[in-house]
Order: sequence, then C-alpha cells, then structure tokens
Amino acid sequence: IRVKVIFILVDNYMYSTLVVEAVRKHGVRLTTVLTTHHHWDHAGGNEKMVKLMPGLKVYGGDDRVDAITKKVSHGNNLKVGSLNVKCLFTPCHTTGHICYYVTKDDSSEPPAAFTGMTTHR
Ligand SMILES: [Zn+2]
Repeated sequence: IRVKVIFILVDNYMYSTLVVEAVRKHGVRLTTVLTTHHHWDHAGGNEKMVKLMPGLKVYGGDDRVDAITKKVSHGNNLKVGSLNVKCLFTPCHTTGHICYYVTKDDSSEPPAAFTGMTTHR
C-alpha cells in the first residue's frame, strides 16, 4: 500500500488544492475520503473536495463529518479500489472517531493504519 503523505495545516482551501495537485501528479483517481473525525483540521476540506471532484465518497463515523456520504461503524469492511478497509471505532478524541486499517489481498506490502487523532482531549 502506497501512502502519500501530504503535510498540511493551513486553511481548507489550501488543503483541497494540495490534495488535488497530488492526485494529478501521481496519476491516481481519487474516489474516497476516509475521515477519522469531524474536527475542522481533519474534515474541514471535505465540502470543497466534493465540489472539486463530484462523485467523491466521503466516509466517516459521525454525522458531524462535513459532506459525509456514508456513515460507517465498528467492524465495517469497505473496498476502496483494490484495498480492503476495516473500520475500527475508537471513541476517545471524539465520540464518533474511526480508525481505518487498510490491507491489500495477495500483497507483500505492509498494511497501513490511519488513526487521525486518538489522544484524549
Ligand atoms: Zn480533532
């Protein structure tokens, strides 16, 4: 699983722009946004992303996640392209926090976990 890390903590407009740029640069198609929780620094760019890329799916575990198209819960298994995504409900930082554990069938690549913020605030 190739993870492209984009370091961003600016405003939401920059976030959307940088993601769109990275998508173009790597020649991939963005289909799905996995949102760990609803705070602006994690979900604040969702509305803009959906406007820029119509049809984009936005997953999250909380109705408060901006532009959410599908609410997931603990143990849900999703397919994103060739990737298997397992949703792990981790209420702590927010009551609707979800971690995503991503694996790929028949692959020697290590799995990846997207945790967002799991510290208590
Ligand atoms: Zn947060």
